[in-house]
Amino acid sequence: MLALVFGAVLLLANCKKDDNFVQKDVLTVNTTDGYTDVNFVNCQYNLDNLPTETLSEAEKSSILFMREEEKLAMDIYMTLHDKWSTAHAFHNISQSEMTHTDAMLQLIVKYNLTDPVGTNGTGVFVNTTLQTMYDDLVLQGETSLIEALKVGALVEEVDILDLKNALNTFVDNQDVEMVYENLMAASRNHLRAFVKNLTNQGVTYVPQKLTQAEYDEIINGDWEHGHHGG
Ligand code: MN
Ligand code: MN
Repeated sequence: MLALVFGAVLLLANCKKDDNFVQKDVLTVNTTDGYTDVNFVNCQYNLDNLPTETLSEAEKSSILFMREEEKLAMDIYMTLHDKWSTAHAFHNISQSEMTHTDAMLQLIVKYNLTDPVGTNGTGVFVNTTLQTMYDDLVLQGETSLIEALKVGALVEEVDILDLKNALNTFVDNQDVEMVYENLMAASRNHLRAFVKNLTNQGVTYVPQKLTQAEYDEIINGDWEHGHHGG
């Protein structure tokens, strides 16, 4: 009964949105290396204060897909860290990705969607495209440290493009926009970090998915600290 009353109070509180609230910064950045975490508490604060708008089918499937795509990044980096344990980038960026998968879960919870990840272990995906990507990219990344770093950069390129496409074509809910903008800024930082690691290995990275112009704009930009949707 108490839980019911509490739930009703929460519901009422949820209905009373403050349109003029100031969003909190969601990203925490290590400016030396660009590892970029989502601050869970600030992200939840923004989600609580942004309205729950109608979720289109495109937004819904995108959220479920991005939840697994963030897990894909986390799992690939964890697995490649086991192989190339001297490369701290994989450990640190996998930790960032864990916070990104959590942010996607926060959206899933807010909109009462069914989480595709659940208790799935490392390297297990519901989406078959992501499963194939995991299998292929881990194989490639295990051949050498340089290939592993290229895999990292590729994963970030794909992430940036998927988020950008969603934002440019069908995402209109403010809360989805808020999370996606921040995950995209994080991915740009991660791309910069992997490219910097490749440069340290004497390798000039050539973008595999982004256009040269898009890529140059990111690489020539500074580490990003956070983006407010809207
Ligand atoms: Mn990410
Ligand atoms: Mn990333």
